[in-house]
Amino acid sequence: MTRAENVYRIVNCRSCSARVIWTVTNPELKSGHPMMVDADPHPNGNILLARYPSIEHEPGKPVPVRATVMRPGQIAGARADGNVLYRSHFASCPHADRWRKTNAARHAKNGSRR
Ligand SMILES: [Zn+2]
Repeated sequence: MTRAENVYRIVNCRSCSARVIWTVTNPELKSGHPMMVDADPHPNGNILLARYPSIEHEPGKPVPVRATVMRPGQIAGARADGNVLYRSHFASCPHADRWRKTNAARHAKNGSRR
């Protein structure tokens, strides 16, 4: 049953219906934000997932999954420690350009020049 600890709740991407896991980066911070990660570990993955029971969450709701984006220098060590690494769904979603457009619109509003 201990294996279940490493099984995360899988949902489907609203754009492409791929299997993904909703995670939160820096859940303990106000700056934390949700991130979609591919449900299957990836050989070029750079994201470490962990359950974070200490983070405040609604009773009965799943424990938040914390996503830590590894720096290039940390990846080999994390794998050597037996961790599996995941990949951001932003990198693999065939509809990611739609997401980017949303981001681009937001940047444009902030006055960035191109
Ligand atoms: Zn997708």
